Amino acid sequence: MSALSVHQLARADVRALPLYSPDGIPGIVDLSDNTNLWGAPPAALRVLRDAPASALSRYPSLYSAELRAAIVRYVGLEPASAIDVVTGCGSDDILDSTMRAFGGQGERIAFSAPTFSMIPTLAGLNGLESVGIPFTRDFGIDAERLVDCGAKITYLCTPNNPTATAASRKAVEHVVTHAPGIVLLDEAYAEFAPETFVDLVGGNDRLIVARTFSKAFGLAGLRVGYGIGSYAITDLVARARGPYKVNSIAERAVLATLDATRDGLDWVREKVTLAIAHRARLADALAGLGFLVLPTAANFVLVPTRQAAELCGSLRARGVLVRALADLPRSLSVFEESEGRALRIGVGPWEMMQTLIDALADVLSCE
Ligand code: PMP
Repeated sequence: MSALSVHQLARADVRALPLYSPDGIPGIVDLSDNTNLWGAPPAALRVLRDAPASALSRYPSLYSAELRAAIVRYVGLEPASAIDVVTGCGSDDILDSTMRAFGGQGERIAFSAPTFSMIPTLAGLNGLESVGIPFTRDFGIDAERLVDCGAKITYLCTPNNPTATAASRKAVEHVVTHAPGIVLLDEAYAEFAPETFVDLVGGNDRLIVARTFSKAFGLAGLRVGYGIGSYAITDLVARARGPYKVNSIAERAVLATLDATRDGLDWVREKVTLAIAHRARLADALAGLGFLVLPTAANFVLVPTRQAAELCGSLRARGVLVRALADLPRSLSVFEESEGRALRIGVGPWEMMQTLIDALADVLSCE
C-alpha cells in the first residue's frame, strides 16, 4: 500500500489549480455572470414541467443528433455542406475537448490577453502552455503577433470576456488564414454582436467556432454548448469529448427553444434586442456618473476603475452583485490608469439597471 496521501498522489499541476470561484453569493440583483437576466424561455420551462419518466430513466442520445441538426438550421448553414456541429456540457466542454483533441503535452495555446479566465485553467489541465499576447491600444487583436507564436491552438474570443470588445473581420480572417494550427473561436456572446464569423468555417477546416445556450438563450443551468466546424474537426472534438454529454432534458429544452415560436426563439430574440438597447442606456448612465466604459458588443460592460474592489463591496452591501477584476494588463493605457482593475457589469431588465445606477450614485455620494 502506498504511504502517500491522496494529495501527494495527485498530479502537481492539478494540486496547484485553484477552484473556479467567481465572487458570487446570492444577491438581490446579480449582475455578475453575463447570463440572461430576464430568466429562461417559457418553451424550455414547459419541457421541464412535462418531461416523461423515460427522459430521466434512460440514457440521453449519444451525440445529440437531433439537436445538432436544429443548430445547423439556427446558425443558417446549409445542411448538405461539409460543416457539422459538436455539442457539449456547456461551451466550456467544447473548449476543453478541443484542447484535449489537438493540444499535446507542452505545446502552446496563444490568445489575446485579457480573455476568458477559464482558458489558462483548461489549458493547464490539458498540459498546454498559455501564451497571452496583449490587445492593441484600441482593443484590437494583434493578429500578426498571435500567428507568429506558432501555437498549436490559437484561441480568439469575440465579443471578448471580460472586455466586451469585438474583433475586426480583418484580424479574425488574418488569424484564421495564417495560424499554423487549430483556431478556436469563442462566440459565447455572438447573439449580442454586430457580426459573427461563423461563415469562415466554410473556407477553413482548421477552424472551430464555440457557442453556448448559457447567455442569450437563458439556459446556463442546463449546460449546453456547441462547436461548429468542418466534419474533420467536429468529429475529432466529439471523440475527445465522449458520449452522453448533453442530458435528455437539456436536449429537449434547447430543441423547444430553437423553435421559431413566441415562447422559443422569438422570446430569445426579443430579450437580445432589449439587452442591446439597455447596454447603450447603461453605458450613458455610467458615463454620467463619471466612469469610463469600454465599447461593448456583448450583454455586459467593462468599467476600468481603481476603486473596483471597494465599489464592488459597497454595491454588494446594497444588494447588487457585480464582478470586480484585478491584474488586467497595464500595457493597455486604460488599465494602466485603473491600476489593472475594473468592474464587469451584466445588462438586463431596466429595473435592475436602475437599481445598480441608484446604488452606485449612493456609494459615490458617501465618498
Ligand atoms: N466562453 C466565454 C467567453 C464565456 O464568458 C463563458 C461563460 N462565462 C463560456 C465560454 C462558458 O460558457 P458555458 O460553459 O456556460 O457555455
